Amino acid sequence: MGPMIINLRDISENYRAYDFQLEKDWWHPDGPGDQIRGFSRPLSVRLGLYKAGEKIVVEGSLSEGALARCDRCLELYPLDLSSNFKVFLASTPSGEDGEEIELTEEDMELDFIKGEELDVAEIIRQQIYLALPMKSLCSEGCLGLCPGCGANLNVEKCRCKECAGHPAFSKLRELKI
Ligand SMILES: [Zn+2]
Ligand SMILES: [Zn+2]
Repeated sequence: MGPMIINLRDISENYRAYDFQLEKDWWHPDGPGDQIRGFSRPLSVRLGLYKAGEKIVVEGSLSEGALARCDRCLELYPLDLSSNFKVFLASTPSGEDGEEIELTEEDMELDFIKGEELDVAEIIRQQIYLALPMKSLCSEGCLGLCPGCGANLNVEKCRCKECAGHPAFSKLRELKI
């Protein structure tokens, strides 16, 4: 994998396209709670950058096979995340060093800008999170897990009755809490 960095000093008023290929294993889930667990195939990314007045515009599009975890049954399923995005970076003069780049949206984190370099994997990561549906479900009708026995009700039967007296049952209950 080549360097996934764009130097913002290279950006002029002329639209410039950059193509990147993120290999299948590029994604590292942000802890066990991350809904996106990985990708089923490499992710092709095209970013277009140009200056517009005081701003640098970053355009891009995403589509592709993310593997997400279902909120209900916790199984992985293929999630087709499609998103076109446009991010504006504002240049503000800062003394001798010339320009300093910062985001205009205050609530966005600047994780993908390091100095005057744009970290491609990081901006894509952020856009993937923004494209995530509010609820991550393997299907609308997902039956989820039984809160009692933990059975995945899409593929197996609830075991609550049969194991109510079994010690493993109370252990599972503890795990849930
Ligand atoms: Zn599910
Ligand atoms: Zn059950």
